Amino acid sequence: MQLIFEKSRKGRRAIRLDALDVPEATLPKELQRKEASALPEVGELDVVRHFTHLSKRNFSIDANFYPLGSCTMKYNPKMAEAVASNPGFMNLHPHLSSAEAYWPTCQGAFMLMHDLAGLLAEIAGMKEVTLQPIAGAHGELTGTLLIAAYHRDKGNTHKDTIIIPDSAHGTNPASAALAGYKVVEVPSDKDGTIHIEKFREVLNDKVAGIMLTCPNTHGLFEKDIRAIADAAHEVDALLYYDGANLNAIMGRSRPGDMGFDVMHFNLHKTFATPHGMGGPGSGPVGVGERLQPFLPGPQVVKEGDSYGLRMPEKSIGPMAAFFGNFMMAVRAYAYIRLLGSEGLCSVSNHAVLHANYIDTRLKEAFGNPFISRCMHECVLSAAPQSKNGVRAVDIAKTLLDYGMHAPTVYFPMTVKESMMIEPTETESKETMDRFCEVMLELAEQAKKDPEPLQHAPRTMPVGRLDEVRAAKELNCSF
Ligand SMILES: *Cc1c(COP(=O)(O)O)cnc(C)c1O
Repeated sequence: MQLIFEKSRKGRRAIRLDALDVPEATLPKELQRKEASALPEVGELDVVRHFTHLSKRNFSIDANFYPLGSCTMKYNPKMAEAVASNPGFMNLHPHLSSAEAYWPTCQGAFMLMHDLAGLLAEIAGMKEVTLQPIAGAHGELTGTLLIAAYHRDKGNTHKDTIIIPDSAHGTNPASAALAGYKVVEVPSDKDGTIHIEKFREVLNDKVAGIMLTCPNTHGLFEKDIRAIADAAHEVDALLYYDGANLNAIMGRSRPGDMGFDVMHFNLHKTFATPHGMGGPGSGPVGVGERLQPFLPGPQVVKEGDSYGLRMPEKSIGPMAAFFGNFMMAVRAYAYIRLLGSEGLCSVSNHAVLHANYIDTRLKEAFGNPFISRCMHECVLSAAPQSKNGVRAVDIAKTLLDYGMHAPTVYFPMTVKESMMIEPTETESKETMDRFCEVMLELAEQAKKDPEPLQHAPRTMPVGRLDEVRAAKELNCSF
């Protein structure tokens, strides 16, 4: 495909500007261009076709089944987009919040943020929520900085460690390290959940916090949470819940009730805000009483009938400009209001049911190292196929030729040839059946003739790339 620059023809235009009817302002000399910038000169139809063709080369949830485990690539109702495109939200300038005199003009936005934070707190059993963090990992950093602020405030200067199980999401240890902590890893038990004895061995007075991903990256619910929480609190270590995948438990159980002190949500996984192409994301953080005074700010507060802003007493300061990605808050609010509590329960019911359906249909043909029921995603393994020379990556690439996005492969790293499959609650039985049938067909194919699988994909714009080199020497002109 040609680059848009190669389609450029001198003088071709998509727009024609009217003659200037305001006084001309000149830029300072040092800011003026010496020569015209090398922008492509193309007609409107060229631009439309170029980008439409490009968009069709991507997999997207609007066009393809997308069972990318851990990522929750679910369908978001278009209603949330419609609400977010309301000009009252879209054209609101964030600086209106900077001076109290203008707060009367922001009451709707303040109310929405206040109510969304309240709804999220209710869903997770937390005392208060900040909407500022702009990604899940950013929420983790916020949470670990809150833990650090708590210990600093208490004079717990000896605490320098955070415990993280090997089944945690990869961002957890990175966030803890960025907040200045040493990370100690705890292995999983045979059943795929945290090894409680090994956990007790590494828990001591130097531990500032424990980060649990739940369901963990084996797709399993951590069954010993109560014991872990009690043991942690005994040494004044705080408990962090990675709630990126809240669609697994929403309406069924609440991290706050389990003893967690702090957690993050991923609005772009559970609450219908865009996820493809990197966001923009939103990773609100909820806290219990212990951490409330340290929350980032400003927080929206309700005073009588109106809303204002207040900095929490011992705030760690702002974690993002203004209120984070406000337009994501609008979508999430619309989604929660649309579904109501019954709807949210039905989300987690179906997310878990669908993953178990796929697990049950496929676990004989592919391996599954864990015996327990999975939550919202299942971890299968291409270890049986690898004996015939077909690896998880070959299955992933072949699925693309069937018009389905690949599952997450080689993660979790604790499972050989892992394939992490998350169908999400929004898929129909027919779609999941077709996926299962294709997977079973590939398992048969691997036994008979592995070669075609090893050379897939055949129908994509590119075949197999050297992924390290492709990231460093980007070349889009294929
Ligand atoms: C996706 C995910 C994260 C990270 O979220 P980002 O928004 O990508 O930073 C953290 N933990 C878990 C369990 C996740 O699935």
